[in-house]
Amino acid sequence: MFNAGRLSLARARRGLTAKALAEKAGVGVDTITRLEKGRNTPEADTVERLAKALGYPTSFFAGDDVEGVDIEAVSFRSFSKMTARERDAAIAAGSLGLLLNEWVEARFGLPNPDLLDLSHESDPEVAAVQLRQHWGLGQQPIGNLLALLETKGIRLFSLSENTASVNAFSFWRGGKPFIFLNNFKSAESSRFDAAHELGHLVMHKHGDPKGDRSLEREANYFASAFLMPFDDVLARVPRFVSTDVVLKSKVRYRVSAMGLAYRLHQLNRLSDWQYKSMCIDLSRRGYRSGEPDGIERETSVVWRKLLTLLWQEKVTREDIAKELGIPIDELEGLIWSLTASFERTVPVPGNALRIV
Ligand SMILES: [Zn+2]
Repeated sequence: MFNAGRLSLARARRGLTAKALAEKAGVGVDTITRLEKGRNTPEADTVERLAKALGYPTSFFAGDDVEGVDIEAVSFRSFSKMTARERDAAIAAGSLGLLLNEWVEARFGLPNPDLLDLSHESDPEVAAVQLRQHWGLGQQPIGNLLALLETKGIRLFSLSENTASVNAFSFWRGGKPFIFLNNFKSAESSRFDAAHELGHLVMHKHGDPKGDRSLEREANYFASAFLMPFDDVLARVPRFVSTDVVLKSKVRYRVSAMGLAYRLHQLNRLSDWQYKSMCIDLSRRGYRSGEPDGIERETSVVWRKLLTLLWQEKVTREDIAKELGIPIDELEGLIWSLTASFERTVPVPGNALRIV
């Protein structure tokens, strides 16, 4: 049995054109085209060549249909910066994430989604307050945002290097919310990206009916308001805002200095002129290109628990990849930035866990 959709998916993940794959595998382009259209059934030798060229196990191509991610239903940031190939690779990562999620959910009970549908709410500031109220967060700053999202039932995955121009994306599938996150920027920026995607999940569940791309602005506004509640900011940040005040206060909200300056401008604590000169000052101090003295990168609590439990049963990442029929680099790609700061635990004889 050969699954045509899986060939397209693996090719998209590897960012290869049909021609490039054909050359790499030593087969004709028309062979690839026919196989992907499901018109031909390949010889075992052809499957092996394709698998080798793609770095995928042959077993991958024999599996059931993989759920596709509908591009219309996916919210991307920096959509315009992406090439079609990068976009396809990211969407294909979404499909692999669904595959991995299915594997996990067949073995573990993950938290049920507890989000609000705020698609009727046109003011992101109000939407952020409503979600905070629903989650009983009050006006407190949020410690580990990723852990919070996971306890509210959001399935988190990471994006790997062939999707570097995608910050993050999110979608609903089967009543479950998914967020895919990149981590090539600062930890503060990744946190903001996660909050931005949360905004899409609650405010734009039904897509973009107006098609006017105001959704990005709304999601950014939501993220600002969610991470920096106006009551708390107005009460805690000194009235006279200098650059040093911003640098000191950003620690409370675990946001970037630029992000807090933006919020203070939004809340009229900084005039247009003050905001502009603060951005110049922050840039000069290196806060545009990075986040000096930044926070530690947030990691996933769910993945840490799952991997620990699996290790205890002597199930390695390699085993999971094998069961899913995907290469280990694809599995690592889906979880690496969420687990990168854990030390790798390796089971040793005697059922003990060792840290290496
Ligand atoms: Zn967005």
